[in-house]
Amino acid sequence: MKKITSHLYQLSLGFVNAFLIEDDEQGLTLVDTGTPGSLPKIFAQMEKAGKDPRDIRRIIVTHAHTDHTGSAAAISKELDIPVWAHADTARLVERGLPGDAALHVSPGLLNQVIYQLFIRRGGSTIDPFTITRLLNDGEVLPGGVRVIYTPGHSAGHLALLLQTDRVLIAADICANAAGLHWRTVYEDRELGRQSILKAAAFDFDMAVFGHGGPLTSAANTRLHAKFA
Ligand SMILES: [Zn+2]
Ligand SMILES: [Zn+2]
Repeated sequence: MKKITSHLYQLSLGFVNAFLIEDDEQGLTLVDTGTPGSLPKIFAQMEKAGKDPRDIRRIIVTHAHTDHTGSAAAISKELDIPVWAHADTARLVERGLPGDAALHVSPGLLNQVIYQLFIRRGGSTIDPFTITRLLNDGEVLPGGVRVIYTPGHSAGHLALLLQTDRVLIAADICANAAGLHWRTVYEDRELGRQSILKAAAFDFDMAVFGHGGPLTSAANTRLHAKFA
């Protein structure tokens, strides 16, 4: 588990990241859950960093894809905690679906390879789970976490802005693996571009992604410059 800011940690789960928000009053919030079977990895990384997994109060899933929701059912059941998400994500995961729209592979050979290896074979179902709180665009959660509705990569995709730490959890609006670039697939890449620019208009310095490493400075300016 890697400390990003005073309130944010990144958990590396193979090719995908999950995040832990730590707030004095709200306790721990797990953002995304990795692929199916990631519960032991998440718990072990937390324990190694001196955090008790039993202190997780809630899960937020950024979108329905298997690499983000794959262990949500198991963790929420194990800890008896609620899961929050956008209504479009709820509609999918409650039926056990990581998505129901056609995906378009982004330009480049590497994206084709990643798509064939990880996404096409990633499985078309997940263990269903219930979303107990629907998150809406513009809402600021206790602890100062702003919800930014950012569809395009996936229906119901949310980015989360930790306003006090000026860090954006960008999830899969794009990726930062071997440079800042498109995520491998989009349901609607032009809508995805608009969502990146919408998020980039907020005030933050750092950004973390579902795939790849963090952007550690001027992240909003760099996102805007890359995708405008
Ligand atoms: Zn995704
Ligand atoms: Zn992903």
